[in-house]
Amino acid sequence: KTFDDFNVDQDIIDNLRKCGYEEPTPIQKQAVPLMLQGRQILGCAPTGSGKTAAFLVPIIQALQGPRRDGFRAIILCPTRELAKQTQRECLKLSEGRDFRYGAKSSKKFGKDMLKMKHAAINILVYTRNMISDILITTPNRICFLLKQDPPAISLSNIQWLVIDEADKLFETGSRGFWDQLSEILNACDGESRKIAMFSATYTPAVAKWCVHNMKGLVRVTV
Ligand code: AMP
Repeated sequence: KTFDDFNVDQDIIDNLRKCGYEEPTPIQKQAVPLMLQGRQILGCAPTGSGKTAAFLVPIIQALQGPRRDGFRAIILCPTRELAKQTQRECLKLSEGRDFRYGAKSSKKFGKDMLKMKHAAINILVYTRNMISDILITTPNRICFLLKQDPPAISLSNIQWLVIDEADKLFETGSRGFWDQLSEILNACDGESRKIAMFSATYTPAVAKWCVHNMKGLVRVTV
């Protein structure tokens, strides 16, 4: 299987090649087609396996669809450093599509952005036709924004929630990560919301959470 076998737009394939990637890694070969079909997945794959591109490619592809209000994808990372790395990869893979940091759109959204800045959030906002799409950050930050009155972000149009390095998140959440995740899931109340979880190891916490929250889940292991 090559990148050309992925059912994604040519510009994404060109961007993968521009990154110097010649062929998909095993996790990419498995995860990309499943996510493109809208299947919820648990990817057991360590750092270094190419897991970041494995979830970014189908998400960038999905954002080609009809425009909607609010964020359409969230990527939860255990640390701000990892969120930044993921942002960098996202910018490379979406080059040529109007990704920007910050926002210039509606007044309401401008105010939201100020709150986010105030929260010193790591944020990548994809704006096209003045609509923001991807939020890459830590669970703490999302919960902070949801807690504002009124909430600083709306997650009701989320199509993909990615939980990256889930084993670390379950270990290190400053408050129980389990509770934070419930809060975030409650806010992502759109009917088409799908979850993709990635974890280096298949820990009991990961297994338990997935069984409770991810219907029809496909597990892929590399
Ligand atoms: P990750 O597992 O996402 O942390 O990725 C590990 C490293 O592999 C990153 O530095 C990526 O740039 C690189 N990478 C991702 N996909 C590929 C690929 N298909 N071929 C070669 N390198 C890749």
